[in-house]
Amino acid sequence: MDTFHYVSYAQEIIFAPGSLAQAGEAAERFGWRKLMLCANRTMQSNGILDSIKSSLGERLIAMFGRVQPHVQDVQVQEALAIAKEKNIDAVIGLGGGSSIGMAKAVGFQLQLPIIAIPTTYAGSEMTPVYGVTHTDENPPRKVTVSDPKIAPKLVIYDAELTLDLSPALTASTGINALAHCIEALYSKTRNPLSTAAAVTGVQHIINALFNCYQDGKSLEARTEMLLGSHLAGLSLASVSMGLHHGLCHVLGGTANVPHGIANSIILPHAIRFNADATAPQLLPVAEAMGVPVKRIDPTVVVEALVQKIFHLISRMNLPQRLRDAGVAESDLPRLAQIAFQNRTVQNNPKPITEPAQIESLLRVAW
Ligand code: NAD
Repeated sequence: MDTFHYVSYAQEIIFAPGSLAQAGEAAERFGWRKLMLCANRTMQSNGILDSIKSSLGERLIAMFGRVQPHVQDVQVQEALAIAKEKNIDAVIGLGGGSSIGMAKAVGFQLQLPIIAIPTTYAGSEMTPVYGVTHTDENPPRKVTVSDPKIAPKLVIYDAELTLDLSPALTASTGINALAHCIEALYSKTRNPLSTAAAVTGVQHIINALFNCYQDGKSLEARTEMLLGSHLAGLSLASVSMGLHHGLCHVLGGTANVPHGIANSIILPHAIRFNADATAPQLLPVAEAMGVPVKRIDPTVVVEALVQKIFHLISRMNLPQRLRDAGVAESDLPRLAQIAFQNRTVQNNPKPITEPAQIESLLRVAW
């Protein structure tokens, strides 16, 4: 790491249990008076919507409250129409990566500031990227847009909002956070900040994730996990990702596999695929997971890490095979072709020269 180049994004981050109540005050500080909220239906049923309404008061003038997974292009058009009609001056994404992705799509297209309030561990709140699924293509395809203006100006982390996140979503979006750290550690564009954030992020995630899965109401575990996912998002924000992330986007956009589930199925296979090129960078992850790392060949260590990750995923009862996530075996060659053209896949630290390499990984994961 003798040379590096990265963009650091100007943001205000508020991290404290109960901080949702500060949203109105923070918006006032920025001078935002006409806010639009993007959320999904869960936020209405679990009471989070009422809390943000009371914090924002009259500043909240518009809402798109039924965001679907993977940010559908048709929904982006509907949300944009509301935003234009109400002449908003900032847009809030409240929820998982999909609600935050919707806010980013609206905010970026109207050149407005974005506020992110995450309630899962997906990490989108920290990044200058969003993906939209183009539903008119056959098969549908998720297309990502990347621009520094997409990075939210204000991020509010309130661990109390995660207390009702189900064990399944805790587990799958937690593995997504772990995957950010792993791909940041071996990214071709890794830098001192991304590596420091990823190493510390992994330690918090490994400490807290299973505790959150077992006892979702533990505010202490939830706070540590949210800290891990913040660091994971921070590491993700300043580097290019690789095979794992590109493949998960294809599985989400084209095969409609929920993002966290795609992450849980693919992560150990992607680590194993890359091991001969990336093993030394993964030693801190292996160490955090209790694998002895001294005086052992790094590729052997990484295989032990892969086994630990399989074990963690199985203890949290997540699907481990693509067939269990609704992917047909006959679709694998087509998914491999699409993934081969994916820019993120092409940024993988170990070169991928033909779709057959991806297809054979998918067959093992099927
Ligand atoms: P999601 O946003 O689709 O949400 C999944 C489910 O979680 C929803 O049904 C939602 O109702 C529920 N949920 C969210 N918070 C909850 C809470 N606190 N309590 C109860 N239920 C809750 O899933 P996700 O995994 O958070 O995000 C995935 C999406 O984000 C994908 O589209 C992915 O591509 C994108 N993403 C983008 C980035 C980026 O940097 N741009 C990073 C990670 C993920």
